[in-house]
Amino acid sequence: MPEFIIPLVFICVLCLILFRIFTIRWTFGEAGVARKLESLQRKNKEYHPFNNIILKTPDGTTQIDHILISPYGVFVIETKSFKGWIFGDAHQKRWTQSLFGPYRSSIKYQFQNPIHQNYKHVKAVQDFLGIDSKSIFNLIVFAGYGEFMTKMPENVVGLYDLIPYIESHAEILFDSEKTNNFSRKLSDYVEHAPYNEESHMENLVQNMEHPICPKCGKPMILRTARKGAGAGSEFWGCPNFPSCRVTKNVL
Ligand SMILES: [Zn+2]
Repeated sequence: MPEFIIPLVFICVLCLILFRIFTIRWTFGEAGVARKLESLQRKNKEYHPFNNIILKTPDGTTQIDHILISPYGVFVIETKSFKGWIFGDAHQKRWTQSLFGPYRSSIKYQFQNPIHQNYKHVKAVQDFLGIDSKSIFNLIVFAGYGEFMTKMPENVVGLYDLIPYIESHAEILFDSEKTNNFSRKLSDYVEHAPYNEESHMENLVQNMEHPICPKCGKPMILRTARKGAGAGSEFWGCPNFPSCRVTKNVL
């Protein structure tokens, strides 16, 4: 048996274990939120929770962690399971996660502001249910062991503040009939599930290769920058330019 086989097997097993830990941690956060929402529903039947919903958007599909329909509004929830220190505010484009490395060092990672990331989901739910922006709430839950190091906007909460935050919205926005209609509409949609994770992934890949304008829903056109620092470089532009100025980088 060649000598390198044993270390190779060892590395493979280690990779598998690490992968498993990461995937468990990932699903753990969402399962935690789903359980909290179920317990809320057991307490008050007017809350209707839904998990992992794929909805249509102008440029493809979008995957939403949780939607909670209630007389007090519709909550669109994005779950993050991060460890370490979390830095961010409502307006920053990117937030920072700081993990502790060896010898008191720290490793920093940047990620998209989850409030911005969840806008797209909020918009998709709003279009699907046909409701105005005053009755829908963009809510971010950090369900891991992360610790907020900056003052977070009120719609960014830890797992244990999720239910108090939802219950703090006590103003009735929809009557029972309307609430039940929204819930039925989403249940029917889920039952007939026009999209699955596979088609959602296909959409994402296709959108990377040839993007569709997220505002107009039209295939974008490859253009060359004439002016500025990036002159000569290619980018994707909307065919409705100049009325639509959406651009995307070529990957
Ligand atoms: Zn456009």
